[in-house]
Amino acid sequence: MFSTLSAFEFQQKFSDQNSCLQYLAELKWKDGYVCKKCGCKSFTKGYHPFARRCSSCRYDESASAHTIFHNLKFSLQRAFYAVFRYCKKKGISSYELAKEIGVSQPTAWLFHCKIQQTFESSGKNPLTGEVHIDEFVTGGPEKGKPGRSNGKKKKTLIMVEVRPGSKTGLVYCRKIADFKKDTLYPIIEATVSKDAKVITDEYPSYDKLIERFPKAKQRKSNTGKGFPILHQQIMNMKGWLRGIHHQCSDKHYQKYLNEYCFRTNRRNSEQYIFRNIMQRVVSIKTKTFKELSADAA
Ligand SMILES: [Zn+2]
Repeated sequence: MFSTLSAFEFQQKFSDQNSCLQYLAELKWKDGYVCKKCGCKSFTKGYHPFARRCSSCRYDESASAHTIFHNLKFSLQRAFYAVFRYCKKKGISSYELAKEIGVSQPTAWLFHCKIQQTFESSGKNPLTGEVHIDEFVTGGPEKGKPGRSNGKKKKTLIMVEVRPGSKTGLVYCRKIADFKKDTLYPIIEATVSKDAKVITDEYPSYDKLIERFPKAKQRKSNTGKGFPILHQQIMNMKGWLRGIHHQCSDKHYQKYLNEYCFRTNRRNSEQYIFRNIMQRVVSIKTKTFKELSADAA
């Protein structure tokens, strides 16, 4: 819908504060109004355009309240445009965004973090069918530490559905502390359906997966050739991170993994991403800067 619009058309549609507020209000209360304080369902006009005031307790809720658009340092139109830019195929770095909307890089970065909250998986769609699993590291190679012994590199567990005809299904990535069973198994169990046909390489950590996934199998990796779809995704993810964002700290790494998976899992419905993100923006509980910075997990 929106990502097919040109930047010019987009800016015409959201040309002023009110057109943005109206869009937010329509999304926010599309299933009807309920007062956040007392649960009352009737309202009158609030103080700001498109705000609603509870008929019972008089709580006045603006269209942007409880969304990532609340109390921004820059205009709502700029914030909408930022989301629009994030919806484009590969997204945008906070450096480029800062230049495009005329804010400082830290301000753009913080807004990027807020948008990234909406990329987090709901966990409602476990991977099913054939699921290939592997781990990989990102960050420069370290001298004298080949393969899985890897010092300070960021470690990731990747799980990919492989659908009939060798097509890529859903993709999930989790940052991990190490490659031990105790670390890997709870993540896999939380992400993959019990009856999935899980396939991994012959790394010893995976040898007990069969106890939790009856159809699990191990086979030779053959330096990645045994798992072409999985390795394509690893290449894509690394390329995207390097190409768009250049770098990211260990602390924020999971957010970038979430963003990559969100984009990949919606690659065939790109035209709905704007509405999809906006829908999440009005329904998630947004975090403060303090909370975002503390997200070291
Ligand atoms: Zn109320």
